[in-house]
Amino acid sequence: MSDEELVKLTSYEHAHEAHVARNAIESAGLYAALNGEHSGNALSYVGSAIGGVKLYVKKKDEVRARQILNEAQQDDAPTIPAWICQECDEEVDAGFEICWCCETAYDATASQQR
Ligand SMILES: [Zn+2]
Repeated sequence: MSDEELVKLTSYEHAHEAHVARNAIESAGLYAALNGEHSGNALSYVGSAIGGVKLYVKKKDEVRARQILNEAQQDDAPTIPAWICQECDEEVDAGFEICWCCETAYDATASQQR
């Protein structure tokens, strides 16, 4: 078994998610490869049915690559605290970007003014 051997890190239902992940890993100087991308693009419904796009990294980089992906996910999805809708004054639970009542989008600037 070689350190250069590729191992499957994770898989993505959508090709663009896999590209984001690969870019994050490559920007850290590691090698990353995608598999299943072509079927995901042309036949996206079929692509997700057969497991989507798989992300591979070198075995020696596996731990580091997982750390990179965890950090990237935190950057992409900042945790939204519970907030009060500016339109209807309903309280919206943490993590929701849209008011459940009137569908107004979360506004970080406005909610901080309370
Ligand atoms: Zn609302």
